[in-house]
Amino acid sequence: MKPEDFPKEIRPFIIPEHEGELIYRCLDCGLQYDIEELLYTCPDCGQVLLIYDLNSERLKKIPGEMWRRIFDYRKMLTIPALKGIYLYHEFIGPVIPLDAVIYLGEGHTPVVEANDFLQEKAGVRFYFKNDGQNPSASFKDRGMASALSYIHFLVKKGHVSDVLAICASTGDTSAAAALYASFLQPHVKSAVLLPHKKVTPQQLSQPLGSGAAVFEIPGVFDDCMKVVEALSENYNVALLNSKNAWRILGQESYSYEVAQAFEYDMEDKVIVVPIGNAGNITAVISGFLKFYETGIIDSLPKILGVQSKHANPVYRYYLEPDAAKRKFVPITVKPSVAQAAMIGNPVSMPRVIHLVELYNSKSGMQNVFFVEVAEQAIMDWELLANQNGHIACTHGGESLAGLVAARSQGIIGQNDVAVIDSTAHALKFSGFQEMYFEKRFPAEFEIFPDPDLINAPVYIHPKDLAKVPAPGKPLKSADFEQFVKRVSEEIAKSLNLKKIVTF
Ligand SMILES: *Cc1c(COP(=O)(O)O)cnc(C)c1O
Ligand SMILES: [Zn+2]
Repeated sequence: MKPEDFPKEIRPFIIPEHEGELIYRCLDCGLQYDIEELLYTCPDCGQVLLIYDLNSERLKKIPGEMWRRIFDYRKMLTIPALKGIYLYHEFIGPVIPLDAVIYLGEGHTPVVEANDFLQEKAGVRFYFKNDGQNPSASFKDRGMASALSYIHFLVKKGHVSDVLAICASTGDTSAAAALYASFLQPHVKSAVLLPHKKVTPQQLSQPLGSGAAVFEIPGVFDDCMKVVEALSENYNVALLNSKNAWRILGQESYSYEVAQAFEYDMEDKVIVVPIGNAGNITAVISGFLKFYETGIIDSLPKILGVQSKHANPVYRYYLEPDAAKRKFVPITVKPSVAQAAMIGNPVSMPRVIHLVELYNSKSGMQNVFFVEVAEQAIMDWELLANQNGHIACTHGGESLAGLVAARSQGIIGQNDVAVIDSTAHALKFSGFQEMYFEKRFPAEFEIFPDPDLINAPVYIHPKDLAKVPAPGKPLKSADFEQFVKRVSEEIAKSLNLKKIVTF
């Protein structure tokens, strides 16, 4: 729809102005810094930063009801810059002019309700939000669209040139970074650091396919992260990990979309997210807070963070009920099928601590919860979900397992409706499905396949068939007829099919 065709009262707002006054703010010492410079940590005390809009009061001058209409109408626009995460421009990057926005098809991912069978099994009403349907097949595209649009903005202003964008990754960050950076070549080049053999073949193929420089390093993600931090401290590179606060801003779009998908009614809703480096849960909490403070939603949904028992530092931190006694202790991770969340020392932990406290206090009660789940439960729930119409990755399975655990612990009530973040596409992690079906899990995963969930291809080659076709060697008519007849008989036998009776 063309801007001039919108209702008169919507027209002045349908194309966002570029305004706002964004600054980085240190979460520890509170110092503020100009965003004209690319910063990741506080130059004064070294703590992580978040981006704030000093002029956010202007957003409150528009009533929540009006905002809701603006966003709903904006969905009808065909302007590419506003078709992705920047539909919520005023809340995500109000200083970024639309001509700097990079849109590669991210965001607005489907929200799919589970069937009756699965909801009954889980004991809760729930939906999957399929963030695997983003361009690089994970939610990381949301943050990269924001971070690379910001870099594009700096390039256009002449503040930077020949940028080398760099990141450490458990697989999906590098796929997204390489994809979005490649759109800006030759101005931006990208390099990614991966823990050797700790990303799936699909994830490795992605940055290679996008033309990034790919480095594999011994160890796990936490080791890669240290190397990338050393590089960003000593060399002129742009860090694209979620330490980069622009990533968080982009990922807030997830909350805005969930709100919009449920007509901004967050009563009795539970948002379930897996936690790795904790950037995503930071963004999800921050996003709902912003919509709440602007009156776009009237209540704050419950947030449920889920971790594997093999990588659970955030869960452990919150085990201590007394906030004053909590102490963050990084852990050594064990192998996990939720491999993209296999992180023992989450970079965003200070952000989580800050925002969880704020969220609970604005909610007037505890409204953020954490649970841990076994590797077995992650695989079982992922496979069961996908046998019921979903395309969940292992982290989607982890989140569903977490929802079930939270329901049995009474964290989630009978009338709650959950939205589960399936953070990536099932295909990225199909190797774990294969290991399950072929009973090949090494002992340290502690996964024992449930025979009811195992599936395997059946090879049909009847012994009495002398000739079968091969590429470039088709069968002649009589042989081919015999082949079709015998193979279809065998398949019918295997499936117990009844013959059509003709009279
Ligand atoms: C990165 C990632 C996570 C973890 O998100 P954090 O922001 O690091 O907590 C979970 N699932 C998938 C598929 C991911 O790529
Ligand atoms: Zn500081």
